[in-house]
Amino acid sequence: MDRRQFLKTSLVGAGMMAGLRVAGDAMAEEKAAEKPLKQGVLKLCSQDGKIPGGSLKEKAENILKFGGCGLEFGGLSVERARQIKQELTGTGVGVAALCVARFSLLHPDAAENAKGLERLKEMLTAAGEAGSTGVIVVPAFNRDPQLEGDEGRKRLLDTLPALGEHAVKCGTRVLLEPLNKGEAHFLNRLADAADICRKINSPGICLMGDFYHMCKEETDDEQAVLAADGLLHHIHLASRIRWLPGQDHLKEPDKPERSFVAGFRGLKKIGYQDYCSLECRVEGDPRVEIPKSFAFLKSEWEKATV
Ligand code: MG
Repeated sequence: MDRRQFLKTSLVGAGMMAGLRVAGDAMAEEKAAEKPLKQGVLKLCSQDGKIPGGSLKEKAENILKFGGCGLEFGGLSVERARQIKQELTGTGVGVAALCVARFSLLHPDAAENAKGLERLKEMLTAAGEAGSTGVIVVPAFNRDPQLEGDEGRKRLLDTLPALGEHAVKCGTRVLLEPLNKGEAHFLNRLADAADICRKINSPGICLMGDFYHMCKEETDDEQAVLAADGLLHHIHLASRIRWLPGQDHLKEPDKPERSFVAGFRGLKKIGYQDYCSLECRVEGDPRVEIPKSFAFLKSEWEKATV
């Protein structure tokens, strides 16, 4: 039995979150020693509402001018998804994830849960039509009625496989998003989300990382990213105070700026190919501040030597 097989077998036997984390870290270290197949890329993008422009065409022109190459959208109908794909074809701007988030995946009421699963299926269909990376899913926010702990975990392990199959058929993914405990206590670390994805073992069930939440929950951004190797397909970018990356000093001049170097080093090590998208407050004129923030992020990427 090789080391990886041993770890997998041990995990089944133990079934404890603490054990899973330790084993996940060991696997991440082992994986990190291997060379990525592709060189990691920094594809900067933004949620579409933060980009100035009265039409999608103007927003696409502006994100390119600012130094980005993608747009993240909210919930879309299939018809709107097709329009977006058509309008962006040939512009050099891609469709990143769809940020929808609420699907009652852990709702204790079976009927509410079924409704949420149906909504998510519809959104996956739209995401496929748009050529989107995936649909962002928070299993439950703190204010949502929800199954806790092992019960919640069992619900996900029971319901996500069918969604994964549907996502694969549509050519897209479910992207589980871990949040900080103040917003959602069910899923907080990338390694926890990766563990669920590995149990389900479907290319349609993956995860994303959000640098704002990671700042609160992860002890080491690089290790967090490495623990999600092979499963990480979207990133949200925000500073420590959830403003544009590089804007922490505007509110907290005495504290160091939130660094992205360690996390970016992790992305380079796993050969990350998907988008890094702004999900944050923009303090000041977006036409000035977003290009500044993108320049800051590009310099952080350069500093992340591997
Ligand atoms: Mg986020």
